[in-house]
Amino acid sequence: MLPVTYPAKPIVPAQGMSLYIHVPFCKSKCPYCDFNTYQGIENLMSPYLGALTTELALWGKALARPVVNTVFFGGGTPSYLPEGAIGQILAATQESFALQPGAEITIEANPGDLSEAACRKLLAQGVNRLSMGVQSLDDALLQMLGRRHNAAQAIAACQEARLAGFDNVNLDLMYGLPHQTLTQWQETLGRLLALDPTHISAYCLTLEEGTPLHQWVAQGKLPEPDPDLAADMYHYAEDALELAGYRHYEISNWCLPGFPARHNLVYWRNLPYLGVGPGAHSRLGEFRFWDVSSPRGYVSNVEQWAKSSPLPLTALTEAALGTVPPVGGQEHLGAPLIAAETMFLGLRLMEGMDLAEASLQAGQDLAERYRTEITELVELGLLERSGDRLRLTKRAYLIANQVFIRFLD
Ligand code: SF4
Repeated sequence: MLPVTYPAKPIVPAQGMSLYIHVPFCKSKCPYCDFNTYQGIENLMSPYLGALTTELALWGKALARPVVNTVFFGGGTPSYLPEGAIGQILAATQESFALQPGAEITIEANPGDLSEAACRKLLAQGVNRLSMGVQSLDDALLQMLGRRHNAAQAIAACQEARLAGFDNVNLDLMYGLPHQTLTQWQETLGRLLALDPTHISAYCLTLEEGTPLHQWVAQGKLPEPDPDLAADMYHYAEDALELAGYRHYEISNWCLPGFPARHNLVYWRNLPYLGVGPGAHSRLGEFRFWDVSSPRGYVSNVEQWAKSSPLPLTALTEAALGTVPPVGGQEHLGAPLIAAETMFLGLRLMEGMDLAEASLQAGQDLAERYRTEITELVELGLLERSGDRLRLTKRAYLIANQVFIRFLD
């Protein structure tokens, strides 16, 4: 059989890319969070918005007005931005990118910021998907997590979003928390299901080093989360959500039929996306690169870029990225890393991956590259293969990292 040849690809393929917009502001910093977000820098909101719209215009020019299929406002707390800011950013996006009709436009929101009127304004500005950081419906747990909403506010926000006209609502939940019982988790899920969200994300708490929560556990002020109990919570969610009609489509994500997170599917399929805003990561061509994380540094670097009158990029190279001041770091993804990432991102999806299709996208024959690993993992009962379709078995969901690590050199 002749070896397959894979054609070189443009920076952004004709079918387009996704756009991530990072908002680095939070009204208060949650003690478990290690995201690039800050409290008490509201004085930078206006310069940030100026820099962000400039960065969008410059990337639009550099990438020759690429097609954009999904936009995700993440953070941080995008719903904390001043009124009208989201519309202003979307207008700048539309001006410099070919934002597709029907594009999924998601905003992450804190339930404390949402009223029916606020939701109507978000819809009027072009947002069509709401992702709410509910986390729990237990007030004591919410307090421990430093959230600025309580259970009643979260429920009201969800109801008001529906009333305002949002028909695509994700609720983010956390489990495996110190002090959290299985009963509390069951109650939270039951009450949330009654709100009929289209999508649910459930993430096990990770104690991130350097965060106050990590320190409290290390100092014995809070109990260490019990991994067996967290596994029970995960299995309970699997059963309860399936019974309620939700499709488990990614390790930590469930949706009603027709409502997967289109933006996140781009990440899991290792497709191209551009990130703008302080610390935002991009994955384009053979590069991963990220903007400087300091909001102040970001603003001045964007100003510097604007002054340099950049030209459209003909190719994405280390040198070309070096001429883009907001880019604070870059990594050239060689063939081994592209192959590994395509595998472990694609396998996060319950439907798994089509090896032939993924090979075409990764520019290399993945079935051949990982022949030994795939055979061993299938024999261990952690992967199942049917023709070109490869996916995790159910028993591998909670130990998926042990599977993914086999694809790294
Ligand atoms: S609101 Fe979200 S982004 Fe902000 S500190 Fe809390 S967890 Fe982090």
